[in-house]
Amino acid sequence: MRDLEPASGLLHSIDPATGETVGSLPRTPTDAIPRLVFQAREAQRGWGALSHGQRAEVLRPAAARLKAEARRLGELASREMGKPLPEAVGEANYCADGFAAELDEIVAALADIVREDARTQSTLRHAPLGVCAAITPWNFPLLMPQQSVLPALVAGNTVLLKPSEETTLVAVEYTRILNEFLPAGVLTPVVGDGAQGRALVLADVDLIVFTGSRETGKRIMADAAPSLKRVILELGGKDPLVVLDDADLEAAAAFAVRNSFRNAGQVCVSTERIYVARSVREEFLRKMADNTAALRQGHPREQGTTVGPMVNARQKAKVVAQIDAAVSAGATLIAGGEPRDGNFVAPTILSDVDHAMEIMREETFGPVACVQAFDSDDAAVRLANDTPFGLGAAVFGRDLARAASVAERIHAGMVGINQGCGGADGCPWVGVKESGYGFHSGPEGHRQFAQVRVISRAR
Ligand code: ADP
Repeated sequence: MRDLEPASGLLHSIDPATGETVGSLPRTPTDAIPRLVFQAREAQRGWGALSHGQRAEVLRPAAARLKAEARRLGELASREMGKPLPEAVGEANYCADGFAAELDEIVAALADIVREDARTQSTLRHAPLGVCAAITPWNFPLLMPQQSVLPALVAGNTVLLKPSEETTLVAVEYTRILNEFLPAGVLTPVVGDGAQGRALVLADVDLIVFTGSRETGKRIMADAAPSLKRVILELGGKDPLVVLDDADLEAAAAFAVRNSFRNAGQVCVSTERIYVARSVREEFLRKMADNTAALRQGHPREQGTTVGPMVNARQKAKVVAQIDAAVSAGATLIAGGEPRDGNFVAPTILSDVDHAMEIMREETFGPVACVQAFDSDDAAVRLANDTPFGLGAAVFGRDLARAASVAERIHAGMVGINQGCGGADGCPWVGVKESGYGFHSGPEGHRQFAQVRVISRAR
């Protein structure tokens, strides 16, 4: 349970690979948050009076500044949460390189829409909602803030960003760069943990954009309910991969290893459950084990490291407890499982698992891939859908019609056939069931950051 009492003092950011303090910042006192929200509301009047295009132009020069600082931002992110340096710098570059196109996509998505019939002409406007609270996690410490903040700002809202307590320094740096161009009060960082997050949710905000765990998402929704605040919740997953008997096993195993162990498994669309046709199970497991042996776990800033530590001791303990419980209940360790120092968990493959085990039901968020055999496509679909989550999924099979039929029947927001679940440019990031409530990205996602209004007159 998080401490939700008013918190003050310093927030220390700890390097999970070494235990060293990366830096410290004063926490935003929880009782100062209503005043910050009031200031954001004052600033919204001027910001909201600009057009979508004008707001995008204010933000546009920040792209070059982000690009110039990408290396430094990536290094800071890697030190704060432990992802290998090339991945962290890659994330910073991705944010900088995609910044301008993202602005253009948001402006286009929020353009007026005219509808008319014989008597009435109506204009649908995408107006600001007001003040937005953006609450973000640590696993993509730059991308998550960017995806929450840009559509909110271009839509004309002012934003208070409360980044994860694990990655505050890099998120505050991100806001500092945007604030070189934004008017005062338009984007305000809030420093702290769940206490500050909750204070923000309870304050006079109009929209809450949250990415994080399902449990915290439910708490936020409950706290938002009394005043019917808008919420966009991007929550966890327990993504399945279905490997059909005609699949390219080389490709499926390479995908499984990449997508289970990337970012030490700390990705909401990590492959956590793998269902493989019984006839190809042994060969698939062998190929997975070979691919896993080629990974190099180590210090995130050491050249060649592909898997870093878990973000903190709490996360490690949760992952290790799930592995130990599964092994006690009869699961077989194909790779990993040995104790590691500090916050490290070895990339682990388990077979002989079933849905009675917690590791097949609850989100693991660690470098663990669990493999269960199935005997028919219908059984694979049933297993894939036996979860309260529904974020991503993948199906591998050479017969595309058959693979597509399995993919269509998996109840997830995003399903990939012979690839990961991420869609083409312009697609939203969307979950079903308890993985999401509202969604972001792509034109459909961007519009959720605005209030649709209808202005009508006689023709
Ligand atoms: P994790 O435990 O993996 O960090 P959380 O879902 O708890 O995932 O955290 C995601 C974000 O939500 C973080 O920025 C965190 O500080 C914030 N947070 C945690 N609890 C609350 C809460 N009750 N209300 C609002 N925000 C919260």
